[in-house]
Amino acid sequence: MNSKISPQEIIEKYSREAPVNLAGIANELGVTLLEENLGTQVAGMIKKDPEKGGKSGFVIYVNSSDNPRRQRFTIAHELAHFMLHRELIGDGIQEDALYRGGFTDEIEKQANRLAASILMPFKLLQNIAPTAGNIGDLAKKLGVSEAALKIRLSK
Ligand SMILES: [Zn+2]
Repeated sequence: MNSKISPQEIIEKYSREAPVNLAGIANELGVTLLEENLGTQVAGMIKKDPEKGGKSGFVIYVNSSDNPRRQRFTIAHELAHFMLHRELIGDGIQEDALYRGGFTDEIEKQANRLAASILMPFKLLQNIAPTAGNIGDLAKKLGVSEAALKIRLSK
């Protein structure tokens, strides 16, 4: 683990294959990923946990009842908070289904933007888009929703 790795370095390093290896990124950051049934109102959580947390001391919980692509977005969003807002997380935050974790809208937007960059790096899009077929195929390959991909491609 290298705790000094920057979001840009992470994105660069993990932009070579689709779907982006989120477990690899979490491992690199020293964050533990766990799946748990969180009901219908909670997408995910990131918590300080000296026992279960990895080298960073943080655990990300993702809702096992969400579909895999949504789970990937949740993990990327929480990893983004970890990279950008670690000092604001305190003992932990819980995100509702719209990814509101008690932060300001601007902070949540920052996390969503970084999450999109992690899941759909432009370099990777350039590499795989020409042979991916239609937008549905491309979204499937990346493990993201078509809606998320369309927003990303409009940038
Ligand atoms: Zn959030």
